[in-house]
Amino acid sequence: MASAERSTEIFAAGLVLPVTSAPVREGAVLVRDGRISAVGTLAEIGRENPGVEVRYFPQCALIPGAVNTHAHLGFRREGAPEGKTFSSWLSGLIERLPEKESWTPEAARDSAREAIEAGTTFMAESSPYGECLPQLAESGMAGTAYVEFFPGDIGTPEEAAEFIGGKVRELRRGLPERVGAHVSVHSPYTVHATAARLAARSTRERGERLAIHLSESPEEVEFVRDGTGPLKEIFSSADWAGQGISPVAYAEKTELLGPETIAAHLATGVSEGDVDVLRDTDTAVAHCPRSNRNLGCGVSPVPQMLEKGVRVGMGTDGLWSSDDLNLFAETLVAAKLHGFGGALALKLATVRGARALGIEGETGSLEAGKWADLAIVEPSPGAGDPEMEVVEAAAGGGVVVTVVGGELIYNRIEE
Ligand SMILES: [Zn+2]
Repeated sequence: MASAERSTEIFAAGLVLPVTSAPVREGAVLVRDGRISAVGTLAEIGRENPGVEVRYFPQCALIPGAVNTHAHLGFRREGAPEGKTFSSWLSGLIERLPEKESWTPEAARDSAREAIEAGTTFMAESSPYGECLPQLAESGMAGTAYVEFFPGDIGTPEEAAEFIGGKVRELRRGLPERVGAHVSVHSPYTVHATAARLAARSTRERGERLAIHLSESPEEVEFVRDGTGPLKEIFSSADWAGQGISPVAYAEKTELLGPETIAAHLATGVSEGDVDVLRDTDTAVAHCPRSNRNLGCGVSPVPQMLEKGVRVGMGTDGLWSSDDLNLFAETLVAAKLHGFGGALALKLATVRGARALGIEGETGSLEAGKWADLAIVEPSPGAGDPEMEVVEAAAGGGVVVTVVGGELIYNRIEE
């Protein structure tokens, strides 16, 4: 909470990139009670607000904080399952599950710290039954815990859907103002269709949000379509037969898609028709290219999605499938992979992520009325594309300050 004497403050930098409006040289952001009150030049904002404390970073760029649309906090840095394929990785992960109790909180704290030091101000975190919600809540970031459930643990599909709705409401009690909890239907291959459908329906009825993993691996595509392959060995469900359709078509049939849904990965087996389904249902996508690369999951057709107007944001996934929790590093990989320029890359890391999560009215760009969620980056001189220089710098450890709701939660610069 901002104390009374610090409720108004000016953050200024040599370059301000609001993302939804033109860059400002020698720019400033006026913050009042945690929210952005004005954006302009330091000269004009300083003149209009005499006596207000100014934090000025002349050599730096000031940008909106990163919005991570798909992450898992609970994986520690070491001990990732080996595996060049998604299914061998998943088998390794399941084998390691009994160890989880002893390491999840510490790993989650470390992952959250890493994200913050890379300028992340909002994180959509997914963990089984919301087990990493406490670490997200104490981290200082704003965010959502997507609470994954696995009906096999719970009873009938109806009981499972009922249980997870109740669990999410229980988890919401006592959370910080900007931390929430919502349901995640883990994936088409782990959650029974009836449980998935019922959970999604009740989410929708309550006006809540939903996260899923979708069309991530070649193994998932085979399992959904034909009912065969390595995932059948791992999740040998007696009543699962191939559906004869793609994971996206299956998710649509199961009523999992809609404007409130964020679907992670969409890396393998996503046809043009599937992209149309995502657009027509207004389903948002979390793009995690490093995780996809590391697990042999292919390349998501993100340019086609953007062209058709699908909402796309960036996600790091977790440490056991990705390199780190630096969303700008993830975005730089996407930019190189798809040939995106700096302006689009910076938007994907910030305002487009917010749009994908349905929170663009609250964060993701530097605009009056939004929360003061920002990062200060020491740029490394590059090819003359200021946005790309900033993304590259932030990807390479150049974030020096992270501010969430006007509060400094990370400051590497001694003032
Ligand atoms: Zn994931």
